[in-house]
Amino acid sequence: MTLKLGVIGTGAIGQEHIRRCNNVLQGAKVVAVSDINTDGARAALQRLNIDAQVYQDGHEVINSPEVDAVLVTSWDPTHEEFTLAAIAAGKPVFCEKPLALSAEGCRRIVDAEIKHGKRLVQVGFMRPYDAGYRALKKVITDGEIGEPLMLHCAHRNQSVGENYTTDMAITNTLIHELDVLRWLTEDDYKSVQVVFPRTTSKSHAKLKDPQIVLFETQKGIRIDVEIFVNCAYGYDIQCEVVGEEGIAKLPEPSAIQTRKNARLGNALLTDWKDRFIDAYDVELQAFINDVKAGELTGPSAWDGFAASVAADACLKAQNSGGIEPVDMPSRPDFYAR
Ligand code: NAP
Repeated sequence: MTLKLGVIGTGAIGQEHIRRCNNVLQGAKVVAVSDINTDGARAALQRLNIDAQVYQDGHEVINSPEVDAVLVTSWDPTHEEFTLAAIAAGKPVFCEKPLALSAEGCRRIVDAEIKHGKRLVQVGFMRPYDAGYRALKKVITDGEIGEPLMLHCAHRNQSVGENYTTDMAITNTLIHELDVLRWLTEDDYKSVQVVFPRTTSKSHAKLKDPQIVLFETQKGIRIDVEIFVNCAYGYDIQCEVVGEEGIAKLPEPSAIQTRKNARLGNALLTDWKDRFIDAYDVELQAFINDVKAGELTGPSAWDGFAASVAADACLKAQNSGGIEPVDMPSRPDFYAR
């Protein structure tokens, strides 16, 4: 049976997901979409050569009898509303990160899902599906480098627009690290501090860039994450785990090496879509397969909530300059790993 998908939001990642669901993945097709800009949605479908019903309102997508499961790829502030509506309709929903704008918003989704009695939500945290991160995790869980003691990480973008602000470095960018580092270490955060080095001249008045976020986990692991979103040279994700017996590092994406003009060169990526293109394919195929099998296993609403609790503490730490606690409640049995 082909799973019929409805997609809310046909911007950059919405179009990417529509393309992959119809042209790359198995067992699903997009039958309905919505966007606040319906002309834009129609144009996107035409470009992708895909025939689907276009609605203006995401609720029409969710409630359409033609739609079996929903992808929420609209603006961050709409995620909570559409995810709650999908749960109310009893439909599985893949919601792009962040699950909601605050931990309270994520908690409302967690509570609604628990009340429903069965997992319906997968959050669009794709890094646990990335082959490099999976290989890194295997090295750790196989005990090859002993117990992890420290992690040194970096999230660098070439540049961002004028509407990207200091807090978005946490809510929009660091949110991926907040999820994947919990998954990698199988640990929760205990406290966080944010420090600001000298700001790059390539930034603007509303953005302090770069930032360094320093965590202590419940097990005592120390993690530093550099977020530098106007780094100028490329899109670069780094993660190095220092263990008791050795060090393991996230592999670089494969790239052609050139020798020219007395220089040795490796091309770097510049676009997030390219860096994680395979991981997006794998995460959405997993969602499709899990929906058909009747049991979701990917990043859960609880993972979305946990990332959001940590993000809220990071925002506090940005403003206070001090060390802020990350008050994470214990995991309900409903979300047992
Ligand atoms: P985008 O290009 O701005 O797309 C968002 C789309 O949603 C736009 O077409 C926007 O319409 C539309 N929209 C806004 N409100 C809506 C509503 N009430 N109903 C239906 N559509 C609505 O942004 P994007 O880069 O695709 O990001 C979309 C979401 O995906 C964000 O939450 C972002 O955090 C997430 N994301 C995740 C990843 C990842 O790595 N997992 C990567 C990129 C983005 P208008 O443009 O006409 O206003």
